Amino acid sequence: MTDAPARFGDLTGKTVLVTGASQGLGAGFATTLAAAGAKVALAARQTGKLADLQTRIENAGGTAHAVAMDVTDAGSVRAGFDAAEAALGPVDVLVNNAGIAIPKPFLEVTEADWDAVLDTNLKGCFLAGQEAARRMAKRDGGSIVNIASVLGQQVIGQLASYCASKAGLIHLTKAMGLELARVGVRVNAIAPGYIETPINAEFFHSPAGEKLVKGIPQRRLGRENDLDGALLLLASDASRYMTGTVVTVDGGFLLG
Ligand code: NAD
Repeated sequence: MTDAPARFGDLTGKTVLVTGASQGLGAGFATTLAAAGAKVALAARQTGKLADLQTRIENAGGTAHAVAMDVTDAGSVRAGFDAAEAALGPVDVLVNNAGIAIPKPFLEVTEADWDAVLDTNLKGCFLAGQEAARRMAKRDGGSIVNIASVLGQQVIGQLASYCASKAGLIHLTKAMGLELARVGVRVNAIAPGYIETPINAEFFHSPAGEKLVKGIPQRRLGRENDLDGALLLLASDASRYMTGTVVTVDGGFLLG
């Protein structure tokens, strides 16, 4: 442990693995982390979808490598970490970003819907988090950043499984933070509010979406790079005395 001032967001020489990197927030996180100096392992179920992103990062002078990983499958998670470490060196930071939602009225949620959401959003973070932590514990430790949601802290309709998974992820973050501090692994979460990404843009421009935006104290949706400050804080040594915390980035949504 050093007493030197921590440099905010400096990831020079660090290897970061981002799950669900093929689109949306995960692709943005990978780009931001690479620009901050990290070697980024881009993990997704289909590596074919990662080629453009890898090229964009490399053209900007960064380092990226695509690995196949289905976060719901322990064997696939292990193989993905092995491939990432063979190409880029030991993983110092994991960003548990992969996640899904299946919006439905509670009475219509099937067992398969429930399993798909909980397996991806909660079990997936457990599997990747445990794999990362086992490796980090044998070295100098590391940082795990779980992408939770304000819906892990406050519920809305039609998303019972999603809300439950993200609430579970916030508690998992604290439980892991508690147990892993002694092996030098920090575990924190970001709870984004409503962030505009290509998959939800249409909804937010509908009357229902516009009404929702009016309920956000800052009166606007989040933009993908609004999460960069929290991401770079939690991924870098600037947060070296933080573990088990949840950083909410929501334009004040939870205050409403
Ligand atoms: P997205 O659907 O664009 O991206 C999710 C990514 O996860 C995709 O690349 C998808 O292929 C991947 N994925 C899904 N299942 C997977 C699996 N089994 N293994 C590996 N990858 C898998 O969604 P997004 O908006 O970019 O969301 C990213 C994360 O941020 C999610 O965890 C989501 O819950 C969270 N989040 C998003 C918002 C928002 O407003 N966009 C708000 C709060 C939290």
